[in-house]
Amino acid sequence: MEKNLYIVRCGEVALKGMNKPYFERILLERVRKALECYDDAEARWIDGLMFVRVPDTYSEDDVIASCVRVFGVASVSPAVEAPKDINEIGRIAAEFMQKVIDKEGIKTFKVKGKRADKSFAIESPEIARQVGGMVLKACKVLSVDVHRPDCVLTVDVRREAAYIFRDKVKGFGGLPLGTNGKGLILMSGGIDSPVAAFMMAKRGMSIECVHYHSYPYTSPRAQKKVEELVKVLAGYMGTIRMHVINLLPIQEQIVKNCPEDETTLLVRRFMMRIAEQIAIKNGDMMLITGEDLGQVASQTAEALVVTDSVVDMPVMRPLIAMDKVDIMDKAREIGTYDISIQPYEDCCTVFLPKHPVTKPKRERIEKSESALDIDALVEAAVASEEIIEIRP
Ligand code: ATP
Ligand code: MG
Repeated sequence: MEKNLYIVRCGEVALKGMNKPYFERILLERVRKALECYDDAEARWIDGLMFVRVPDTYSEDDVIASCVRVFGVASVSPAVEAPKDINEIGRIAAEFMQKVIDKEGIKTFKVKGKRADKSFAIESPEIARQVGGMVLKACKVLSVDVHRPDCVLTVDVRREAAYIFRDKVKGFGGLPLGTNGKGLILMSGGIDSPVAAFMMAKRGMSIECVHYHSYPYTSPRAQKKVEELVKVLAGYMGTIRMHVINLLPIQEQIVKNCPEDETTLLVRRFMMRIAEQIAIKNGDMMLITGEDLGQVASQTAEALVVTDSVVDMPVMRPLIAMDKVDIMDKAREIGTYDISIQPYEDCCTVFLPKHPVTKPKRERIEKSESALDIDALVEAAVASEEIIEIRP
C-alpha cells in the first residue's frame, strides 16, 4: 500500500514562543482526530512542518478538505519525498507533475527552489533551473510561465530529505481548538450567530450553545434548523452541546406586565441572564453573541449597554464591527448560509413590538422590569433546560 504525502503548515502557532510545543501538540492531536476517518493515516511534526501520510486509496481532495478544516492550519499541499540527489529529485518531480497534468490538464508551471539544508551543494535558483529542465523534458505538454503559471512546484531540500510540493490550499488559520478556554454562544437560527461561534472557535475557544425557543409559537422545525446549523459547526469543532430553553413563560410575563416598545430588549436581558447561569454551571468563561453594531434596534450602542448590564460575565461579540455583507460572505464560506436563510420563525420575532426603543435608558428598563420576579423566572427557565449533543 502506497501512502500520499501532504505538508501541513501552521499559521500563528509557529509564532508562539515558549508555548510553541504546547500549541504544536494540540494541533497535532486535532489533525490526527480529523484524519481518524482514514485507516492508517499518520501525522507528525518534523522541523516546524507537519507531515501527513494517508493511503493513496483515499481521495487527495478529501484528505486536504479534512486538514484545512482544522483550526490552526494555515495551508496544506500535496507533496512527495525524494532522496537528496538532484537527478532523483528531477525524476520524481516529473512523475509528480505528470499526475497533476492527468488530473487537472495544466499547461504551464514554474519551479521554486528552497534549501533549508545549506550543506546541499546546489543553491536554490540552480535547484529550480535543473529540476525545471528535467520536468520539461519528461512532460512534453508543459511550458514554463514564471508570471502566471497554472502550477507552482516547490522543491524544498531539508535535513532529512527533499520534498516536492505544489500550490498551497489555504486553511482558516487561527489557533487549535481547546487552547483558549470555553465559551457559551447564544445561538439563533439566523446568519450571524453561527459565524460568531466559528470566529471564536477559530481562535481556539471551545464552544457550547444555548438556544431559546417559544414553542408552540415557534415550531419544532425551527429548532431542527438550529440543530442543522450547529451540525455544520460540529464539522469544524467536533461534538457540540446545545442547551435548549423555552422562553415563552418569560415572554408572556413581559408582554403582560411591561411596555410594548421595550419587549425585545427585556427579552434579550433575560436571554443574557439565563445564559450566564448556564455558563457558570458548565464552566464557560464568557458569553458570545452574533450581535453587530447598529444592525437592528436591539443592537444600537445604547441597547447593547443595557443588555450587557445584567451580567457580570464578559460578553464577546466577534461580529460587532463587521458589515452584514461580509458576515454573509463568511457564512457562505463556512457553509451555514443556506441553512440560515431558510424562513423559520425565531423566538425574537414572536412578540415583536411595532416601534422598538432604539435608545433605551437603563433606569427606565429596570423600572419596567420591577413588575417581574426576575430571579424566579430565570431559575425556572434554567431548570427547564434540555441538553442535546450534536455530532458532526
Ligand atoms: P442572528 O443572525 O444570529 O439570528 P440577528 O441579526 O437576527 O442575529 P437578533 O435576532 O437580534 O439578531 O439576535 C442577536 C443575537 O442574539 C444573536 O446573534 C444571538 O447571539 C442571540 N439570539 C437571538 N435569538 C436567539 C435565540 N432564539 N436563541 C439564542 N440566542 C439568540
Ligand atoms: Mg436572529
